[in-house]
Amino acid sequence: MSEQISAELQAKIEHVAGLLNQAAGEYADGIVFANSLGAEDVVLTDLISKQAPSIRMFVLDTGRLPEETLKLLAQVRQRYGNLKLDVYYPEAADVEAYVAENGINAFYESQELRKGCCFVRKIKPLKRALSGNKAWITGLRREQSVTRDEIAFSEWDEGNGLQKLNPLADWSEKEVWAYIRANEVPYNELHDRHYPSIGCAPCTRAISVGEDVRSGRWWWENPENRECGLHPATPLKFK
Ligand code: SF4
Repeated sequence: MSEQISAELQAKIEHVAGLLNQAAGEYADGIVFANSLGAEDVVLTDLISKQAPSIRMFVLDTGRLPEETLKLLAQVRQRYGNLKLDVYYPEAADVEAYVAENGINAFYESQELRKGCCFVRKIKPLKRALSGNKAWITGLRREQSVTRDEIAFSEWDEGNGLQKLNPLADWSEKEVWAYIRANEVPYNELHDRHYPSIGCAPCTRAISVGEDVRSGRWWWENPENRECGLHPATPLKFK
């Protein structure tokens, strides 16, 4: 290991391991991990590989991802050969219709058009990926943004109709990176170029020191609106 893990972080790792094991037993083949390939999700990939490899994972390839993210996807597939990984793409007819009507970069023009693009490229493929499952796992953390400061380890996802597990809810950014370095987990090289949160290439930019970690996502919109619909900011009902 290239970096020490603190006792506090070790306790959190063991907590996540317990949650993953419990979820794998409780939901069997009805649970899936939504892997965005962000820093949190490479941590979860590593932990699932070690603790609960029966949990399947998927990646949404929107067709607008940065080259660096696709490179990481190939690395993850190679390193974690023991995990089942599916990649979901948007429906070609949906993308063609959106672009024909609005233009290739219409998301800059209005929030409605931006959400329309996210719907076609992310939300519809997500619905397909979640279909038939009872629970899904995400790498959301409370401190990521104003839209995520109340997330629970386990909560009912009303919009998608299944349980949503957020095992890293209480992790700090520092702990995420301590885990990555200690376990030499592959990560997106854009993180080394001041991209703490990475989405589609045209909707993500580097941030300055002191800025909110998600301020590089859809930077032209208000902070309260900076979600794509995968993780709505509105409170979820607990089950
Ligand atoms: S993040 Fe940008 S390019 Fe990606 S789906 Fe949303 S609006 Fe479209």
